[in-house]
Amino acid sequence: MNTVTVIYGNHPKKMVQQLIEKTDALNRLRAQDSVLIKPNIVVSRKEWTGVNTDPRVVEAIVIALKKRGVSRITVGDGAGMGYSASEGFKICGYHELEDRYGLRLVDLERDRFVKKPVPISGPFKTLEIARSVVESDFLINVPIMKAHGQTKITCSLKNLKGVMPRAMKTRFHGVDLHRAIAQLASVVSVDLIIVDGLKGDLMSETGRTPVQMERILLGYNPVEVDSVVADMLGYQPREISHIFYAAEAGLGSCELSGIRLLALNRPTKTFRFTAPPHFSKRFPCVIDAQGACCTCVGNLIFALERLQEKGMFLKGFRFLVGQKVKFRDKDDLITVAVGQCAVKNNSADMIIDSCPPTTGAIMQSVTSEYSRKH
Ligand code: SF4
Repeated sequence: MNTVTVIYGNHPKKMVQQLIEKTDALNRLRAQDSVLIKPNIVVSRKEWTGVNTDPRVVEAIVIALKKRGVSRITVGDGAGMGYSASEGFKICGYHELEDRYGLRLVDLERDRFVKKPVPISGPFKTLEIARSVVESDFLINVPIMKAHGQTKITCSLKNLKGVMPRAMKTRFHGVDLHRAIAQLASVVSVDLIIVDGLKGDLMSETGRTPVQMERILLGYNPVEVDSVVADMLGYQPREISHIFYAAEAGLGSCELSGIRLLALNRPTKTFRFTAPPHFSKRFPCVIDAQGACCTCVGNLIFALERLQEKGMFLKGFRFLVGQKVKFRDKDDLITVAVGQCAVKNNSADMIIDSCPPTTGAIMQSVTSEYSRKH
């Protein structure tokens, strides 16, 4: 059974270091290898808006590579439509990494491209891939996990789009995008995936509504990593067509029962969550999340978003999350204690007694209660 490893927290450098050490993820790498790190630089906007890969995650990978004696390191990406990776690198501080570690920063849209035959069925017979990617010995995909307007989620499979020329990216949107993404995964072979799940956008790929999620994942197979991420964002992996098509083509499994999720720690009890102004207005239910870990609240937000998409009216619910919430008096609202901390301190109508409670578990409990009442 393949494993995807997750670590929770808000110290990306330490988290990446632990992930790499505990999984021995760089054991195949030789000092003389050339490594290409592919972050997700979509728009020219600061990484904390939830759109671009946090440079601290990339920096931690670079440090681990340097420790193994690797000196040929390139960080490369091609941005989304109307933006430039060069500009994104500048705004997110990637040039400081260039100076500090002597790595090469490449805007892949300015690279040369190599035509590669596509081995699986779909709209393309060949795809053009940036030469820096094709010629690297070891490719590390570092996507950010977030929502996407067209494909529901974007993570390691879709992040590969950045290795193609702009014209080819445009063509992807004129065909069956999901099939094309699966085809791309059959052409670009990735050695390691490290997912920036610190703060991803909830609504779109362009960083309007970041959600603090405080996690980083490590895996090797993009279908399996994205299946775990889909689950974390409240979707069945099969609902995301490009994941399903890639699995159908034999590129990995999208069955969660066949993927082992190994957590290196529990979410941090940092009491840092403070509700952003839009938070309570966003959903018609009552939410008390003072003192909750961001992981817990992040999973609740994703669950509520998905439940609303399914047409559920959440007005009659009250959600309690975190160590500090206290609720005793009964009223007409259905009170749901989300996570072990809230369960301990409250006599709620429904409990989700795990740490962290998954998006799937929250959705399941609320859906069953909702169907009972309606
Ligand atoms: S159950 Fe408690 S410790 Fe676990 S993630 Fe939620 S708030 Fe944090």
